[in-house]
Amino acid sequence: MRDGGEYDIIVAGAGIAGTLAAAMASRKGKRVILLDRNPEAQVGKKTIWGWTCGDAVAGSHIDFVKKKMSVTFGEPELDRRVDGVYALSPDLETKFKFEGVGYTLDRPEFEAKLLKIAKGSGSEYVSEFEVQGPILEDRRVVGVFGRDKSKEEIRYRSKVVIDTLGISTVLRRNLPDNPFVDRTIDIDDVESTGRYIYEFDLDHEDLAYYDRENALIHLNNMMAPGGYGWVFPKSGNRINVGIGVQKKSLDIRNTKLGKKDNLQTLIDEYVKWNPLFKNLRIWNKNNNGKGSWSVAVRRPIESMVFDGYMGAGDSMALPNPISAGGIGPAMLSGVLAGENAAKAIEANDTSTEGMWQYNLDYNQAYGKKMAGMEVFRIYLQSLNNDILNYGMRTFLSTKEASDITLGIVPELSLASKFKMVLKGTRNISAFSNLVHVMGRMKTLNQMYENYPASVKEFAPFKKQVVHMIEEAKERFPSSPI
Ligand SMILES: Cc1cc2nc3c(=O)[nH]c(=O)nc-3n(C[C@H](O)[C@H](O)[C@H](O)COP(=O)(O)OP(=O)(O)OC[C@H]3O[C@@H](n4cnc5c(N)ncnc54)[C@H](O)[C@@H]3O)c2cc1C
Repeated sequence: MRDGGEYDIIVAGAGIAGTLAAAMASRKGKRVILLDRNPEAQVGKKTIWGWTCGDAVAGSHIDFVKKKMSVTFGEPELDRRVDGVYALSPDLETKFKFEGVGYTLDRPEFEAKLLKIAKGSGSEYVSEFEVQGPILEDRRVVGVFGRDKSKEEIRYRSKVVIDTLGISTVLRRNLPDNPFVDRTIDIDDVESTGRYIYEFDLDHEDLAYYDRENALIHLNNMMAPGGYGWVFPKSGNRINVGIGVQKKSLDIRNTKLGKKDNLQTLIDEYVKWNPLFKNLRIWNKNNNGKGSWSVAVRRPIESMVFDGYMGAGDSMALPNPISAGGIGPAMLSGVLAGENAAKAIEANDTSTEGMWQYNLDYNQAYGKKMAGMEVFRIYLQSLNNDILNYGMRTFLSTKEASDITLGIVPELSLASKFKMVLKGTRNISAFSNLVHVMGRMKTLNQMYENYPASVKEFAPFKKQVVHMIEEAKERFPSSPI
């Protein structure tokens, strides 16, 4: 086994989170090595399927990076600007608008740009390196081992390892058993997702199915059990179209309907269901026209630091539990991880305690609303299409729905909705469950507002969070039909 040398920081995984973590740490004067399995021309490719993603990101997340790192973004990486997002009910009769400028990315171009920033900031980049696991000494992470393109085994050592390997990370999974960073996550908190990028001819206009100016989300537990379908506009006559499903919801749906659908058959049915697109051709630039992969839709791993180890992006389950949007969280956490790792090295303390500030910074920047949103996601997965149709028409205004996706909890009570004539026992029970969920979201938001300031207060906090999430799962079992 060859010795690859000693660095201040190893960043494992050159996706969105990794390139930004490396760039930030290098700018803080640290000696950084960025390792990734892809050839340089394919930087950021998640799997053999490509850069599989819906590619939609809020403008505010792009602005965060611009400001923190004094960089600019434009075409070609920002492929198309969108005004906002519409979520449509299964019967397409109710539409909630979520305002806010966003972009659909040309993901390979975006990743290439981020790598350029990392290299330009001084990071050493090693492509075609397969990370195989952490090097542990006295239960502390002191480096990583893996194989280079000639299959030679190499060990790199560092003061801090930043894990940005995405959802399938071999680093987090191989940490020593510890009370801070969980090594596994519940399969029910993972969405199987897949999408196509198509070029098309438009048969006719119908904003319920395709909107040039907005991203569309179709809630429909028959078509996308436990998840949703999306049609995101790209530049020209191109779209990114796909669905995400929860495996458990899919299994329940299949059993009840006597069907054998899987993710791929459901994606294909969803595309066929849309009446607007004629002559669909897969847009296969970079061989990135079709692919599937997984997204975690839960709260962030409760602590993202452990002795000598930090995580950012999908390796820490950071995507938003309702939207599954993980690009923004990967950007924010990458920047903050790089910054905090550098500070911890300067302070000569890269223990869990010494790097705790990163947990606080990410929590404040984005993480603190996610546990509440996870409860809302669990609730949504317990509703069939009839209740979703009724509930979207009746339970919430667009403003209230939009607030929920921002982590702001609306004041809902049976009394507050006295003008609403609720009909049907299941609908009334769904509404009172929603009132309960709002209460739980408030409590979790408050708990995360007071995220433990130090390691010592962490154990009771985590215990209470886990208890509340488990309680929600028990109370609202997945029930797509
Ligand atoms: C179908 C789908 C649709 C999505 N749609 C959206 C969307 O519209 N908007 C949004 O915000 N988010 C979306 N997401 C989520 C988003 O894509 C992720 O949150 C984001 O890519 C996370 O970035 P990351 O840098 O943390 O991880 P990744 O993008 O997964 O990057 C990890 C990197 O590590 C490398 N790597 C992994 N293992 C190893 C190893 N052992 N050795 C060496 N290298 C390794 C990978 O090749 C890759 O380069 C979607 C996800 C999917 C699957």
